[in-house]
Amino acid sequence: MPEVTWAHWLGWGVMIVMYLRYKIGPYRVRTRDGYVRVKVGGRRRRELEHRVKAERALRRRLQSFEVVHHRNGRRDDNRLVNLCVMSAQAHIRHHSWLDWYRASFGRYPARQLERAKLLELGGVLFEADL
Ligand SMILES: [Zn+2]
Repeated sequence: MPEVTWAHWLGWGVMIVMYLRYKIGPYRVRTRDGYVRVKVGGRRRRELEHRVKAERALRRRLQSFEVVHHRNGRRDDNRLVNLCVMSAQAHIRHHSWLDWYRASFGRYPARQLERAKLLELGGVLFEADL
């Protein structure tokens, strides 16, 4: 029967600490590309906050082709008024339009104009925060 050494205890200790850090670590973490992940329903894996908030507001799951656009371009600003649910295709078109607008006028469009464009592309906007 192999002897239990201090190295065994150390190994178990490290594993327990790592597990706890993973399981009960911070509620919000920032991803390397600037998004925010949050824990949902005590599950181990954190989910993207903008998608979680959009799903709650819509009262349904997002479909695989749907993306959540950040209106002011800030990926960590997940207030509902900053989010817009749209198809991935519409999202690409919207960003092309934003790039074109900026190249033409030297600035991004006013919020009302951007809003009209998002609605034209079938985007779902949220008026108030939950
Ligand atoms: Zn976008």
